[in-house]
Amino acid sequence: IPPRQRKPDWIRVKAPTSHGYAETRKLMRDLNLATVCEEAACPNIGECWTKKHATVMILGDTCTRACAFCNVKTGMPRSVDPLEPQHTADAAAALGLEHIVVTSVDRDDLPDGGASQFVKVIEALRRTTPSTTIEILTPDFRNKHEAAVEAIVAARPDVYNHNLETVPRLYPTIRPGARYYASLRLLEQVKRLDPTIFTKSGVMVGLGEQRLEVHQVMDDMRSAGIDFLTMGQYLQPTPRHAKVEEFVTPKAFDAYASIARAKGFLLVAASPLTRSSYHAGDDFRKMQAA
Ligand code: SF4
Ligand code: SF4
Repeated sequence: IPPRQRKPDWIRVKAPTSHGYAETRKLMRDLNLATVCEEAACPNIGECWTKKHATVMILGDTCTRACAFCNVKTGMPRSVDPLEPQHTADAAAALGLEHIVVTSVDRDDLPDGGASQFVKVIEALRRTTPSTTIEILTPDFRNKHEAAVEAIVAARPDVYNHNLETVPRLYPTIRPGARYYASLRLLEQVKRLDPTIFTKSGVMVGLGEQRLEVHQVMDDMRSAGIDFLTMGQYLQPTPRHAKVEEFVTPKAFDAYASIARAKGFLLVAASPLTRSSYHAGDDFRKMQAA
């Protein structure tokens, strides 16, 4: 096994030790909820959980896919927890979330890919914490995406996020179970069905993509009507995962952000530690206020 690459200074993060962190962790355990913060080994967990911001990962903690960049466990998932929607809403209430991001593993084993659970979560949140804005980050629902997206859009989340993750050339190695154009079409469908829902997508950089390929992805996203863009540095969770080809400098992220704004995205978050849900609520509120 080759030695792990040393991370540059701009990637270093503090160990999570705060009181808020411990409280968030306990709440999630008590409510039997998984979070992408923990399962994906997010580098921002210390900062986010201290502020009691957590991203719930519904439909269990086991994914039916195995993307080369992702730390979430793979295998045969357990059956869907009927209490999960209300527990998610209870967590949002207990954490006092003004904005919640809810994501899931891929559930290619379920007839609807898990879409009905997203709908139940949105309904439980609207009942329990009506002022919380809701952002969902869904899988691609493979061959069932038309029906899945229709059902979720009808439940009216505020933001519909689905990540393209990388440039199309790298899909066969990085996101082998997915299709770039299917993901784009999914987001296009959301906008077509309900133009009042903000659409959002993201890419990781540092996987060997070229700058012009990233610009092309931005153009593709804008053609599909995508409103918000996030870009962050890929970090290798374990030596078994795809390796980091490059640590993109903060200056290069700034350059990507300027280009993205010029291409017309309403919200752009691009920095080494940006993740889909990082500061998502703050950015969304600022945009609404602007
Ligand atoms: Fe969780 Fe998102 Fe924060 Fe990471 S950036 S710790 S996934 S809320
Ligand atoms: Fe991870 Fe999502 Fe890929 Fe599953 S589908 S392995 S959760 S990135």
